[in-house]
Amino acid sequence: MSGLQPNARSRRIEESATLAISATAARLKSEGKDVVSLGAGEPDFPVPAPIADAGVRAIQQGNYRYTPAPGVPELRAAGAAWLQQAFGLSYAKDEVMVCAGAKAALHMALDAIVEPGDRVLILAPYWVSYPALVTMSDGVPAVVPAVPEQGFVHTPEQIAAAIAQHGAKGIVLNFPNNPSGTVPTRAQLQAIVDVCLRHGLWIVSDEIYATLLYDDATHVSPAALPGARDHTIVVNGFTKSHTLTGWRTSFLAGPRAVVDAACRIQSQVLGNPCTISQAATLAACEVPVPGEHEKRMRAFHERRAFLLDRVNRIPGMKLAPPRGAFYALIDVRDFCRERGIDDVVFCERLLARHLLAAVPGSAFAIPGFVRLSYAASMDSLRKAADRLAAFAEAK
Ligand code: PMP
Ligand code: GLU
Repeated sequence: MSGLQPNARSRRIEESATLAISATAARLKSEGKDVVSLGAGEPDFPVPAPIADAGVRAIQQGNYRYTPAPGVPELRAAGAAWLQQAFGLSYAKDEVMVCAGAKAALHMALDAIVEPGDRVLILAPYWVSYPALVTMSDGVPAVVPAVPEQGFVHTPEQIAAAIAQHGAKGIVLNFPNNPSGTVPTRAQLQAIVDVCLRHGLWIVSDEIYATLLYDDATHVSPAALPGARDHTIVVNGFTKSHTLTGWRTSFLAGPRAVVDAACRIQSQVLGNPCTISQAATLAACEVPVPGEHEKRMRAFHERRAFLLDRVNRIPGMKLAPPRGAFYALIDVRDFCRERGIDDVVFCERLLARHLLAAVPGSAFAIPGFVRLSYAASMDSLRKAADRLAAFAEAK
C-alpha cells in the first residue's frame, strides 16, 4: 500500500446513479433473474438503417483515421444547418463543435466557462450528472429545489432569489427535462432566460430530448430567445432520437470564443470524436428519416398512455403526463408516507422483491418520486405495471 489517494475532487464525484442501477439490473439478469430494467433511459429501437450503414461504410472505406479535433468540417456545417432548420438557431460552422455524446459536450462547455469556485445553478429535478460535471470543472453546484406544485417550472422570482442567494455565474437548463418531462411554454422559458440575462449568467442548455415531444409541447431553445444567444451554449444531438447512445456523438454550439475554447480543450482531452460515428452522424443530419421518427413517437405515445392509465390506478401513486422525453416521474410521496419508507427504500424493495429496476427521485434531487424509463417494449412495461401494482398490494 503506497498510502496515496485519489484527489479530493474525484472523491466528491459519485458514480452515475442511473448507470449504477442499470449495472445492478444487468448483473441480476446475468444471474438468471427475470429483471425488468426501467432504470437508465436508452431507446430500444435500432439505429435507422441509412445512419448505421454510413458508419459501416466508413469502416469499409477506411474512413477511420484521426479527424480535426472539433470534428470533420462537413459535419460541423451539417450540424449548423440542422440546428437552423430544426430549431431556428443561427450558427456558423466554426461555432459548432462535434463532441463524443451530450455528456462530454456538457463537460467541455462547463470546462470552457466556469472559473474556480463559480456557483452554477442546477434546477431540480435534474439529470444525475450535472452536479458532478460542474464539480469537475472546479465550479460549485447550487441546486434550486424542485417545484412539483408548479408543474416543475420555476418562476423568474425563484430563479432571481437563487442567483442572489448563491451569487451564481451560470445555470444549467434542460428542457425537455429528464426526469420530469417538463417542457415550459415559450413565455415561461423567456421569463427564466430574461432573469439569467439580467444577472449576466452563462446558460448551458442541454436539449438532447428536443425532438421527443407530446401533446401541444414545442421545443424552444433558450439561444433562440432575444438577447440570449451570446450567453448560451447549446448541447444537442441524435443520442435519444436515433439511438446513437453507444456511438457517442453530439453537438456543442455557442459564441465563437467559447466554442474555440471547447475545441482547444477537446484537442487535449479527446483528440477527436470517433471518426466512424461522425460519418453516421453526418448521415443523420443529411438523411431525414421522418417515417422512423413517427414510428418511435407512436410507440412512445402508446407507452406513455399505458403507464398513465396503470400507475394512476395504484393508491398512493400519481403520474402527471410528461410533455417530452421518455420518463415517467411517479409521485410516491403518499405511498411512502403510509409505509414509513423513502424513495430509495422503495426502489430497493421493488428490485429485490419484484425484480423491477427504477431510479429513486433522490438521485435527481426530488425525493418522494420514482423514475421509470418507458424507452422499453410494451411487454416490459406490462410486466413493470403488474409488478408495481403487486408491490403496492403487498403489505
Ligand atoms: N443529458 C441528459 C438530460 C440525458 O438524459 C443524457 C442521458 N444519456 C445525457 C445528457 C447524455 O447523453 P449522451 O449519451 O449523448 O452523452
Ligand atoms: N440519460 C440516461 C438516463 O438518465 C442514460 C443514463 C446516463 O447516461 O446517465 O437514464
